[in-house]
Amino acid sequence: MFIYREVEIRKADETAAQNGLSGNALMETAGRSLFLRIKEILNKNSRILILSGRGNNGGDGIVLARYLNQWGYKVDLVFPFGEPKSDSASEHFRYYKSVGYSWSTSIGDGPYDVIIDALLGVGTRLPLNQSYQDLLKWCNQQHALKIAIDIPTGVLADRGEADIAFHADYTFSLHGFKPSTFLLPSNTYFGQAESIDIGLPQDAKWKIWSEKNVKRTMKKRGSNSHKGTFGTGLLVAGTDEMPGSAMLAGLGAMKIGIGKLVIATTPYAASIIATRLPEATYLHDGLNKLAVGTFPDGIRAMAIGPGLTDEKLIDQVLENVWEKEIPLVIDAGALGKREFAPRKAPIIITPHPGEFSRLTGLSVKEIEANRLEISSQFALQKNVIVVLKGANTVIAFPNGTGFINRTGNAALAKGGSGDTLTGMILGLICSESDITSAIANAVYLHGLCADELVKEQNERSIVAGDITNVLGRVMNRLIT
Ligand code: ADP
Ligand code: ADP
Ligand code: MG
Repeated sequence: MFIYREVEIRKADETAAQNGLSGNALMETAGRSLFLRIKEILNKNSRILILSGRGNNGGDGIVLARYLNQWGYKVDLVFPFGEPKSDSASEHFRYYKSVGYSWSTSIGDGPYDVIIDALLGVGTRLPLNQSYQDLLKWCNQQHALKIAIDIPTGVLADRGEADIAFHADYTFSLHGFKPSTFLLPSNTYFGQAESIDIGLPQDAKWKIWSEKNVKRTMKKRGSNSHKGTFGTGLLVAGTDEMPGSAMLAGLGAMKIGIGKLVIATTPYAASIIATRLPEATYLHDGLNKLAVGTFPDGIRAMAIGPGLTDEKLIDQVLENVWEKEIPLVIDAGALGKREFAPRKAPIIITPHPGEFSRLTGLSVKEIEANRLEISSQFALQKNVIVVLKGANTVIAFPNGTGFINRTGNAALAKGGSGDTLTGMILGLICSESDITSAIANAVYLHGLCADELVKEQNERSIVAGDITNVLGRVMNRLIT
């Protein structure tokens, strides 16, 4: 499942056209594919209104209207802002008229059971003028099933800004998803978003990390394996005030399959955690030890940050480990305003939008409206892997590629769930060979645990410590 920005969609269309697959042919495929999908949710007796714009989005609506007419559906095709003007839409309009189907420039007497929005697509520029706004308000007031083609009118393809927009129950995106499907506040207008194949080859820098990807990249342990096979991780976390951060992260690492875990924390935190996580080992007076340059042997990867607050201590620890050639996961208290000097081994940062705002100097609102692009730019400029958390967590790599994760829910909106994730990431980086899929799988499984938990209890009652309780169950379903 791929994600395409406006330029990439235009490029795909252009390349197809230059090589013999015309815009007209693509529009026919789009309209027909839309028809085949949409008819599954339509009723033959429904009164359907298709609102078509003057560009290509409107053209897709025309083809869809033609198929609906042809199969006996009751459909009104309306051009509220005038007849089509794009080349392909005009040609399809000519054909539509030639076969004798009706159309209008004004909306007839309702009520409509279904409203299909084919007004504006990837070519949308904001703001919308008053007549668009009025029409969208009218649509949103109707008690009808609302379906948007490609993106709901009023949202952009690439950014999350939206003021007044079509409030869809379903959005059928052509060729692939557009970034705004996953951005704020635009994502609230999409309803159920689905991607519709129109026969173009799939290739984008951004994709959704799916169950298929997890199944392909996570395999059963070899029968000859031993704890050394799955690596030793070092977790630097937890203070007297927040011992639980280290415990949650530690559970995350151990329950996702790390070989051995060493925890560096305060003596008080260690004494508490050790009773609930006896499987880990504890570096005596770990935080101070690391700050003066001690480092345990045989560490494959390290995570630092959950529950840490002492900036001086954190700086010292980071300075001591920076040259070590092991992947370094930096979270929470260790994120600070860090500059990320070049380093041989990968740096993985796991900020929530507030932490990312401090790192980038951008507002949380700006980050939410453009989280893919901003995390991607940051990854490229600083040469770090960015795991930007929140609903639709983004994982951006320095080479410009990235994943969006769609598992998880508001049960995770509670203190400690990020600490658990940090441990899970550490655990998979240690125990799996490919760091890219290790990070993505940790994020996916973390969210999937929350999806599993809400089947049994209300999202309000779920706490971070519950996440790893169901991890084994969800992994059993995916790992074969
Ligand atoms: P394409 O650009 O591929 O035709 P669209 O169907 O999204 O895709 O077409 C957008 C068309 O609508 C373009 O002609 C554009 O100039 C126009 N348009 C974009 N934004 C607005 C707007 N806010 N109000 C009215 N027309 C718009
Ligand atoms: P803490 O530091 O308290 O452990 P963070 O804010 O660092 O918490 O992390 C919160 C975790 O919960 C992240 O993995 C984030 O993606 C997830 N999360 C929070 N709210 C939601 C939501 N509404 N939908 C999906 N995931 C969420
Ligand atoms: Mg956190």
